[in-house]
Parts: sequence; structure tokens; C-alpha cells
Amino acid sequence: MAGLVMLLLGTGETLAGQATIPAIPDARGTFALQVRYPRAGSVLAIGDSTFLIGNVGDGRATLTIDGATIPVAPNGAWLAWVAIPRDSAVSLRLEARLGERVLRATFPLVRAEWARRTGAWFIPGSLQPTGQLWLPRGEPLTLTVLAAPGASIVLQLAGGEQIPFGPTPSRPLLPAGSLAFERDERAWPERDGAVEYAAVVRTATVAGGSDWLTDPRAPSHTPPTLIIALGGDTTRVPWPIAVMRDRVEPRTVTLDDMLPRGGSDGIVIGRNRVGGSYHWFFPNGTTTTAEARHDALARLRLGDGSIAWVPLAELRPRPGPEELAPAVMGSLTLTPTAFGLRLRIPLTRVVPHQVVARPRGLTITLLDAVGDADWSRWPTATSFLAELGWRQVTARRVELDLAFDRPLWGWRVSADPFGLVFEFRQPPMVDAGAPLRGRAIILDAGHPPLGACGPTGLCEPEVTLAVAQIAAELLRAEGARVTLTRESAAPMELAARVARADSLDAEVLVSIHLNALPDGINPFTNNGTSTFFQHPQAVDLASEVQSRLVAAFGLRDLGIAQGDLAMVRPTWYPSILTEGLFLMVPAQEAAMRTVEGRTRYAEALVAGLRSFLARTAVSTGGPPDRPQDDSPLDHPEWQ
Ligand SMILES: [Zn+2]
Repeated sequence: MAGLVMLLLGTGETLAGQATIPAIPDARGTFALQVRYPRAGSVLAIGDSTFLIGNVGDGRATLTIDGATIPVAPNGAWLAWVAIPRDSAVSLRLEARLGERVLRATFPLVRAEWARRTGAWFIPGSLQPTGQLWLPRGEPLTLTVLAAPGASIVLQLAGGEQIPFGPTPSRPLLPAGSLAFERDERAWPERDGAVEYAAVVRTATVAGGSDWLTDPRAPSHTPPTLIIALGGDTTRVPWPIAVMRDRVEPRTVTLDDMLPRGGSDGIVIGRNRVGGSYHWFFPNGTTTTAEARHDALARLRLGDGSIAWVPLAELRPRPGPEELAPAVMGSLTLTPTAFGLRLRIPLTRVVPHQVVARPRGLTITLLDAVGDADWSRWPTATSFLAELGWRQVTARRVELDLAFDRPLWGWRVSADPFGLVFEFRQPPMVDAGAPLRGRAIILDAGHPPLGACGPTGLCEPEVTLAVAQIAAELLRAEGARVTLTRESAAPMELAARVARADSLDAEVLVSIHLNALPDGINPFTNNGTSTFFQHPQAVDLASEVQSRLVAAFGLRDLGIAQGDLAMVRPTWYPSILTEGLFLMVPAQEAAMRTVEGRTRYAEALVAGLRSFLARTAVSTGGPPDRPQDDSPLDHPEWQ
């Protein structure tokens, strides 16, 4: 879930009169005391409670954890929400009973980043940043640490120099899991009294290497020491950081995700901060300036004040001046294609760009560019373009605005020696009477690798494949051309799934999943049904499928969520990811063991796809005006 960006929309409660999931069948199996999650000894980043799931093999058994009664489902599955003491090492006492038989176990857990709040305490893991940094000479570097209120703190460099810390007004950000899932703000982890302290370092602590951008390792050195004093107590801890500033000069680089290994999607992803969200998607060939480095990430200076962090392995240093001149954008050319339109943006150098899409339009920002477009050529008849304009926003920033007279179904971008090439996709010609007929649909059975598992050991990959197979049959029965990204239990990486959908020019992608919560989030109050999307063309699809899934299972409607997930990141077609149920909840796991439950999931997907495409047929003016077998989108791969 790293880099998750979530925007929860529409969290309406369950609808009246809808279906409910089937009752859990009785099980009279072997009496046992099994914890499925977490693993014994796990390190948990949590507030005051967390969940455990497991089973006792027999629905007649009872279970207590630390003396509290845990409900046992008729099939022996259990889900527990237990208080965790404020201590580093925790040992829970589990006791299961069936008739005269008693099973007992102690279950160890470790609380992450726990600090005993006595003396000169600080939060281990709160030292920011750590690692090896190559920074331009003179650029201030702010260090932060969370420690006891009222402490006096210095960083002692190897040469003896001491850099003082002072308290800041900042508070730690809430954990991502709480922000994403916990709907009850009263249940958010309490602030635990730690204060953020900051110091600004301006000098070099270590001399730089011979080539800051390519040398794999920094020179060895003695790390500085953080000294925290409070009352009569002093804590000394090494700060694992090396800052290199010698000869760190800006360098011209070209981005290329082919290096050093294959499997490229032609896009280098940039983050807005180290460990931050995916924010930039640069086609191979983008040329810009690298100005700093943090471990294996390089910081790019994109122009107009913007920066991006990209993997060092995906950039190639090039000879070039310290300051690149802005690229010049020439006249724009639009040509019709089988999918819609191609826009060529001629550039003297492929500069960093960013796209902001809207349901019927798109803005392209070019950084480090100057416009010199005397004209733009539009196609006639077949175009769905309504407007195209550009303006020089600042000295080195150009914005192009496009508007379409139909919904924008998708877009993609590549770079070639002449500049950037965008392709814009118009909606497919949907048959209003049979919206699924002829449509190219990709069903992605989520996982493996990984995947959530339930208390009795049913795991996500098995269920998602079964649901995908049922849905594929139903869709084919209505004339859709369906491809599954995987058809066996063999693991398949996310990039390979997206590459398959892209190569088939999918018209719609649905990635099927079952949800799980992060540690420390209450599963009794936060389970339900949700659907993810990322781009505007997928919002209606997400809504249609979400409402069908909510109606099918009668679980809480967690709404649709914009999420930075690999399977909803594609821009060439509407793509959604469904989290229909939570396998960790005994009743929902039991439902997913049945053909009936899996069929309900599949039917909801099909109904959502059908109504989404039917809406498209209305908005594009009805059924196709030519027979399906004339389609320019014909692929032998489609069945
Ligand atoms: Zn999943």
C-alpha cells in the first residue's frame, strides 16, 4: 500500500431490502487452536488494539484472549479485536475449550517503534532523513527526530562540531492505515506526547566521491551522534547518515526504464518526495537535470520550481551544460487514428510533462519549455476534438488544453526523436441493445503473489480466479471478448498483467480482489465493499460496479476510492479494482467458499459493466453504424 492516495467518496449506508450473505455452515472438525494472522512475534505499528484471526476447528468450541470472550463462528473461525498493552513486548493468553478439553497458548507480539516514556527518550525510527545524501553545496538539510518534551538535543559530527535541535510546531502524520480505513476519528491513534525537533545542516559531513551520480557507495565515515538530554538523563544514539557536497554539480540526464534490466513499460515513475506518492510518469527519452541524490534515488530539477525523485537505475547521465536551455515546442499536429486522435507535440528536447485528465478533456503541462507553435492542424470529419489551445504560463512552462465532444475513454503518451506523441481514445461503439456485445474486456484475478487469507485459510488468489472465470463465462454469453490476465494458480506480477491488457488494447479492465485491513484497524467497524479507480474515465464504471456489489452482498458501502494502485493506473482504458468483501471476516470468508457467493460477485461485476457500457451507448449516440466484424480493433488474441 505504499504511496497510497485515497479519496473516499460517497459512504452511504446499506440499502434497504438488499441481499445478505449466506449463513455460515456448522463445522464439527478437529479441535485445534490456530492463529492465522498475525504471525507469532510480528512487529505491529498500531494504536491501543489490533485484530487476530484464526480458527478452533469446531463451531461448538469457545475462545478467550486475555480473559475476554471471542465469538466463534459455526465453522470454528474467529476474528478478535484485542487490546494491546503499551509496551514493547506483548504476550497474549489464548484459551479454547470444547467440552472437557482445553487448549492454551501464549502468543507473542512486538509493538513497533515503542519507546518507554521515561528519561531522555526518543522514538526509534523517527530519525529523518537517514542514508547517503549528495546535495548541492549550500543547500540546507533539515533533520528531524521525535523525542521527549523539554529535551535538549544536539547532533555531534565526527569532527566534534555540534548542531543544535529546536522544537517545531509539526506533529507526526496519522498512520496511512488509519487515514485510509478508520472512519471513526475517535478511534485514531492518540498523540503520544512526542515532540518533533529539527536542526538545519549546511556543511558537508563527508567529502563527496568522484562521480556523485554514478558512484555506488559513499566514502566510509563515522556517523554523527544524536545526544538527547533531559533532567539528569542522557541518551546517545548514532544517526546513520552521510551527507556529501563536494563536486555535486547539476547533471543532464535522460530517463530510461530499460536500464539496467528489461521488462520495461516505457515509463519512469517520479515521486514528489522520497517515499512519497507516484506523481510523475515520464516516457523514456525525457531529458532533464539531476541535482541531488538520496541513496538509490535521484532528485530531478524539472523546471518551473518542480522536482521529482526517480530511481537512479532509470537515468542515464549525458554530456551537457550545467544549465539546459528550455526546449522549444513547435506547431501542433492532430491526426485521426483507429482509436481516435494522435497529437504530436514537436520539441527540441523531450521535456518533463504532466497530464491532468477530466471526463471530456485534458491539460498537458510541459516544464522547461517555450511555445513557438504558429499553427495547429486539426483533422476534419472523424475527429472528436472540440478544442485545442496552448499558452505560455510562466517563462519555462507551457500548458495545452484539449476538450472533446465525447467522453475521453483513454490516453497514452510516448516520446520519439521529434518530441511527445499523445494518443486519445474515443468511446467504443456500444450496441445499446446489447452493451457487452463485441466489447474487449480484461478480467484480472488478483494475486498471487501475495493476497489476503481468511481465518480458515481460504486465500484471495483462489477466490479471485474462480470469480473471474464465472464472470468471463457470463460476459462471453452476452458476446463480450474476454481475456483473463491469469488462468492458473501461477503467480503473475502486476506489471505483466498491465502489459497484457495494454497489448490487447483492452476497452475495460476489472481487477478482482478481496480486502484486508492494516494492523490496528477495527475490522468490525471498518469492513465492507469498496471499489478503486484512478482516472476520470473510470469513475462511472467504479460507481456502477460498486452499487451492484453492495446490493449483492448487503455489506457496508465503503464507497469508491481514488487509489494509487498499479491495476488502476493504466490510462488507455477505464480500469477499476474491486474489493467486494473482507476474507478476514468469518461470514465473508465462508460466503466466498461457496459457488453461490462467487457467482454473486461475478454477476455484480457483469451487471456493473453492462450498465456502464449502456451509459456509453447513450452518450455516444446509440448503436454502432457498422457491423462488428469491420472493427479496426480486431485482435486474434480475443476470443
Ligand atoms: Zn488483493
